[in-house]
Amino acid sequence: MPELPEVETVRRGLLPAMEGRIIEKAEVNRPDLRWPLPENMAARLTGARVLRLRRRSKYILADLDRGETLLIHLGMSGRMLVSGVALGDFVIDHPTPQKHDHIVFHMEGGGRVTFNDARRFGAMDLFPTEAEDSYWLLEKLGPEPFSNQLSEDYLTTKLRGRASPIKTLLLDQAIVAGLGNIYVCEVLFRAGIDPRRQGRQIAEKRLRPLVAIIREVLAEAIDAGGSSLRDHRQADGELGYFQHRFKVYGREGQPCRSCGQPVLRIVQSGRSSFYCAHCQR
Ligand SMILES: [Zn+2]
Repeated sequence: MPELPEVETVRRGLLPAMEGRIIEKAEVNRPDLRWPLPENMAARLTGARVLRLRRRSKYILADLDRGETLLIHLGMSGRMLVSGVALGDFVIDHPTPQKHDHIVFHMEGGGRVTFNDARRFGAMDLFPTEAEDSYWLLEKLGPEPFSNQLSEDYLTTKLRGRASPIKTLLLDQAIVAGLGNIYVCEVLFRAGIDPRRQGRQIAEKRLRPLVAIIREVLAEAIDAGGSSLRDHRQADGELGYFQHRFKVYGREGQPCRSCGQPVLRIVQSGRSSFYCAHCQR
């Protein structure tokens, strides 16, 4: 599942092809992905100009000059390919059409954006731009990690006194938008907090630094994605997947990068938590 840094990398990779440009032709090759696609989607997109390409949580949002916003969600298996415009120093040729190329945007300027999704867990939708705050996928989201709304006071208030494990609280999208399993594990390692500890068991002076740590961990991952775009390691034009060096995530049994003790894995609410029992208390 792509997390916020991967989605942000995809957004940045799409910018040169999409932002400020007209969708000369939208090809919509099936009626649904995870959910039914919006009615008359091809006609509503063809000829529209993308004014801005933004991100909210793990969604990419393209504001159109017709007053609608196109929402793109990669889901588990969605892949975005960009061709015909420079990505880094490199222009990727248009790929041969593949099975599962469900949506293709032919952009002004010669760029092409292909959404390929074999398992169809991804989604696209259109909603009125002015109704963003009441749109069902966005209305319950808490503040963005890099926004001013996510202050130390805000987060500390949301976490202290709570009986749920800190891992569960940080995964709650209504508290912070966009944090997923991987980066919550990394944040808690960097904060030295045991993922099982309840919000109410953690001293305020250990909660306050979490905002800075969340931003640090996400910013490093976004930088890693940015350099993968610049080095055009994605030579086939596929955006968003790059190699990370995680501190604890996916490293069960391997030595902690700080103390050398083996990294442990437990399951919390059906998700794996990776942590070091020596470094995280
Ligand atoms: Zn350790």
